[in-house]
Amino acid sequence: TLLRSIDYIEMENTYSAPNYQPIDVVIAWAEGVWVYDVEGRRYLDALSGYSALNQGHRHPRIIRALIEQAQRVTLTSRAFRNDQLGPFLKELCERLGYEMALPMNTGAEAVETAIKTARKWGYRAKGVPRDQAEIIVCEGNFHGRTTTIISFSTVPQYREDFGPYTPGFVIIPYGDAEALERAITPNTVAFLVEPIQGEGGVRVPPPGYLARAAEICRRHNVLFIADEIQTGLGRTGKLLASWWEDVQPDMVILGKALGGGVVPVSAVVSRRDILGVFRPGDHGSTFGGNPLAAAVAREALRVIVEEGLPERAAALGEHAMRRLRAIRSPYIKEVRGRGLLIGIELHPEAGGARRFAEALKERGVLVKDTHEHILRFAPPLVISPEDLDWALDQIQAVMEG
Ligand code: PLP
Repeated sequence: TLLRSIDYIEMENTYSAPNYQPIDVVIAWAEGVWVYDVEGRRYLDALSGYSALNQGHRHPRIIRALIEQAQRVTLTSRAFRNDQLGPFLKELCERLGYEMALPMNTGAEAVETAIKTARKWGYRAKGVPRDQAEIIVCEGNFHGRTTTIISFSTVPQYREDFGPYTPGFVIIPYGDAEALERAITPNTVAFLVEPIQGEGGVRVPPPGYLARAAEICRRHNVLFIADEIQTGLGRTGKLLASWWEDVQPDMVILGKALGGGVVPVSAVVSRRDILGVFRPGDHGSTFGGNPLAAAVAREALRVIVEEGLPERAAALGEHAMRRLRAIRSPYIKEVRGRGLLIGIELHPEAGGARRFAEALKERGVLVKDTHEHILRFAPPLVISPEDLDWALDQIQAVMEG
């Protein structure tokens, strides 16, 4: 017998640990910006897998790379070499202007890798006393869900009941460069920051913040680490969001769209004097740098560059922002963002963003609420101007309604 959406929802609710509360749409098929549920209803995906689908669902070139590589070799482990890893890392470094990269799988693993790199660099290169390294992070950050990373989260729900916590992190306000300078001590090895706080509610720092923070880090011999897992790879209108302020971070953390929405691929990209601190056996991952992931990531990068996705995000994002800001709604408090990473903050009186996400689903647009009062609008960067305008029409209808 054929199962319907409701059957899948019940099954998932029964057998899945209850660590998510999804919008109740059961997706069975997808192409480009469109997803289809079990009953064949069509929705525009305006979340893009939290920016992992910048290239759209099942991009033909990426799927071709996946299939071709799957027919050759999928996994070697780093015990042996494969003919995709070298080209992947070379292409990644050359596109972003770096010398070395360290491949992992998920975003959180790459953040952990950056933390380990910064600490080891601090002890080996900067001369910080053993086990005294400090890393400065920002209030409202989101860098993943591992025990070390949630140790420096400022969202109570992400931390509570998961202690004891990893020490060595100092939390400062986001967007305040003076606070960074004040927090630096001789033991500070790095400043870890998101160019825009995505999960934190699409919080855009004041103009000049990243450039100023990078300059402070340089002056104090502190590594400037940009977590571009969500903001990178075209989402904000440039390949790296840091480039909006002409900042070339000491380390960049990438994930999400690096895997083309197909396989988990993440990486830390940096200079030789930083990543070169590792010795064989210090760090690794069974799946990190596997040939299937590397082949997919190579094509995912090529698609971003060759299809001009950053430029599309910049132009379409400006259009979307202009239209959203023109909506006369009693509910909207602020529209902010950059490129196609857009947050719509609602007044508390609007009754929470969730009901607007539900209403938009009924109109065929999938978005996700975050932090109760914020809707995130981040469609795939391949979206056509016509589809974008249609999605904006739906938002306008629920906001004016
Ligand atoms: N860092 C940032 C800025 C993110 O947005 C995310 C995911 O939302 C992560 C890290 C964690 O990535 P993952 O969920 O792949 O571990």
